[in-house]
Amino acid sequence: MSYKFSTAMKCRDLHPPHDLPDWPPFFSTMAYLNENYLKLKAGYLFPEIARRVKVFTEANPDAAKRMIRCGIGDVTEALPDAVRAAMHKAVDEMGDRSSFRGYGPEQGYDFLRNAVAENDFKARGINIDADEIFISDGSKCDTGNILDIFGSGNKTAITDPVYPVYVDTNVMAGNTGEADESGAYEGLHYLKCTPENGFVPEIPTVPVDLAYLCYPNNPTGAVATRAQLEAWVKYALANGTTLLYDAAYEAFIQDPSIPRSIYEIEGARDCAIEFRSFSKNGGFTGVRCAIVIIPKGLMGKKKDGTKLAIHPLWSRRHSTKFNGVSYIVQRGAEAVYSPDGKAQVAALIEHYMGNAKLLVEACTKAGLKVFGGVNAPYVWVGCPNGLTSWQMFDKMLNEANVVITPGSGFGSAGEGYFRISAFNSRANVEEVCRRIAAL
Ligand SMILES: *Cc1c(COP(=O)(O)O)cnc(C)c1O
Repeated sequence: MSYKFSTAMKCRDLHPPHDLPDWPPFFSTMAYLNENYLKLKAGYLFPEIARRVKVFTEANPDAAKRMIRCGIGDVTEALPDAVRAAMHKAVDEMGDRSSFRGYGPEQGYDFLRNAVAENDFKARGINIDADEIFISDGSKCDTGNILDIFGSGNKTAITDPVYPVYVDTNVMAGNTGEADESGAYEGLHYLKCTPENGFVPEIPTVPVDLAYLCYPNNPTGAVATRAQLEAWVKYALANGTTLLYDAAYEAFIQDPSIPRSIYEIEGARDCAIEFRSFSKNGGFTGVRCAIVIIPKGLMGKKKDGTKLAIHPLWSRRHSTKFNGVSYIVQRGAEAVYSPDGKAQVAALIEHYMGNAKLLVEACTKAGLKVFGGVNAPYVWVGCPNGLTSWQMFDKMLNEANVVITPGSGFGSAGEGYFRISAFNSRANVEEVCRRIAAL
């Protein structure tokens, strides 16, 4: 019955539905695909880097042996002891019938939600409650999935350069038209980030419904000051904008005057969703655990103008499409907030930021224009002598055997820059610095 119905529906535009047999179908058809995916640009950044590295390696097997990768933004140092101990203990609990756990609460266990509320917010005087916190398996997924609860037709602002996930998930969701030659999609409102504005965009001159902000920033390493974030919150409240604030790198902030959460700004509870992750502070890129914060009073609207809270929609989405992060991983994440965990995370951050300092110094000494690397694990460098980002990529690969990330891969405003990641061993970073000096 249901089979016959769906077959008839699909054949309808080709053959008017007549007497279709129940089984087998007399007419064979195929599933329609989401054609928005066809608008995505084929040469995505990291596959293209991998392709060029492969070509180089095959042509220069000896030079390839001394190659150092400072490209992809992934941590390199071991998981903190406190996290591993907590996960071992949780594994043992799972091995005993009396402490075994099956499905947990989709939104996350209370022990972790309370630890987040207490340590990331209450301890800093920020008013966020445990039930406004959702535990997930990653901020990449969260920043993409959030579009599930927003309708179509929103005007969306995105920085340029940008973390490509925000753009591509909007394309997949059908929120854009085609890309032009510069790679900019019709329908998105791009906010240029340049040295002139310190890579923090000016407030839009038109109202937008959604705006993605990421500070400390990937890829530029820039941070937004309190005054800049206050201006954004003021704009958002005045225009009914929902800010999508990605704080994945907050732990790398060294300057105590820089806000580590958008909720440090008065009024942000009424206009912002925040994304946080254990990936870069706790080294969880392979373990997977992250956080979404949706304040209870945050509102969106229906087409007829009626205002509705956003929190129940995300809660419904989360519990329908997700079955929770594993108990073992959540115990590991909880340990990030233990006294030992905090000390070990601080040591990791100190290590990576020590790397960033060396890279900034080496690039500055080499006469390059350098940004970031002070409150973020990324150093954003101007290409010398008018080289394009990809020309600089090839130069660094061929002459220094160092893999960097071309800035143009993050958007057209990234052209003329490259990103060096501080996620590496100290020995590798020191060697990269020597090779930059020798270029
Ligand atoms: C690394 C990173 C994240 C974290 O992603 P996970 O899926 O939690 O590992 C989020 N946002 C940005 C901009 C990042 O670079």
